[in-house]
Amino acid sequence: MNEVLRKFGIEHDPDWVAVVLFVRNLLTKLSIYSYEKKAEIQREVTKELAKRDFSPEHFDQVVAMLDMYIMQNIGTVELEDALAQEKRSAVQLLNEMDEIINSMHGTTERQQRRLDAFKEHTVGVIQSNSDKSVIVAKVREMFTELIVEFKEEARELQAKAEMLERTANFDPLLTELHNRRALDAFLNQAVREQAEGEGTLSMMMIDVDFFKRVNDTHGHQAGDDLLRALARILTAHATLYQGFTARYGGEELALVVKNMDQTIAAIKAEAIRAGVESYDFRIRTDGKLSSRVDFTVSIGVAQWREGWDAGKLVSAADAALYEAKNSGRNKVCEYTGS
Ligand code: GH3
Ligand code: MG
Ligand code: MG
Repeated sequence: MNEVLRKFGIEHDPDWVAVVLFVRNLLTKLSIYSYEKKAEIQREVTKELAKRDFSPEHFDQVVAMLDMYIMQNIGTVELEDALAQEKRSAVQLLNEMDEIINSMHGTTERQQRRLDAFKEHTVGVIQSNSDKSVIVAKVREMFTELIVEFKEEARELQAKAEMLERTANFDPLLTELHNRRALDAFLNQAVREQAEGEGTLSMMMIDVDFFKRVNDTHGHQAGDDLLRALARILTAHATLYQGFTARYGGEELALVVKNMDQTIAAIKAEAIRAGVESYDFRIRTDGKLSSRVDFTVSIGVAQWREGWDAGKLVSAADAALYEAKNSGRNKVCEYTGS
């Protein structure tokens, strides 16, 4: 057995190991074939192996050939049933191996090592057992283990990728908000879309009023908590109309909405402003909550116009924000410039 595998250099290839396993072990256990028929199948497969073509295409051909042989010579219903069962276990085994091979693409070094170990075990099981059902059961068991491990690893990798994606695009303090980098990318893309087609694009720039005072009076930690509360309010509103929220800078947040004009955006901004004003913010120290700390925001609103790049939209929203600050704060102002 092992000699056959080694002779053809396929002792580490589960697909072909399965073929040899089938022909050498499973087939000989099938009582429904005459000795001559078995010998013929073995001869034919050995001929195929001798071609030393271990490509997936050739593998498919060999499996098809085996299927054909197995399905021949069917006499009675009982034979058919017995055959179908034997055939199923062999083909199933081959399919499962195939599945593993397919999931191997792009495997990590760690997976590769595990896979190599698995193959070695497979060969070991095949060598040390002559009972078909024992081999099938053991190999299946190892398959299942391997698949579970691979799936777990895939999940881990995905979680890691998501984490990396979050660190790359989201703010570390205000975790539900995108960072500046993601905002720039989003704006550039959105502006490109505007330039190409119809539609509108609006932006709000939101800044906490007298934020320095909060920091000075209650401490930086309280300031951070306040920003987190603001981020939650902003996200809750933005979710209603699929707005893109980001931290533009320190305590300046941005909200970008596609398919919304400036007038509507100003109404939405007013809802945010009012939401912040009525928000019951309390500072938590040593698990105890303070009495309510009022805070407000000023918001500048602008709509993309023909010929503007992303930077121009940002500075227009910023100019409107400046106006809101200058006219008393806790206000929403729309961009009125040209
Ligand atoms: P106004 O905007 O109303 O003009 O007054 P302000 O006091 O908010 O002034 P400004 O916007 O210029 O102040 C920004 C302050 O925000 C300065 C900085 O200490 C504080 N700040 C910026 N980022 C953070 C942060 O992540 N955490 C905390 N706690 N404070 C921050
Ligand atoms: Mg401020
Ligand atoms: Mg500011």
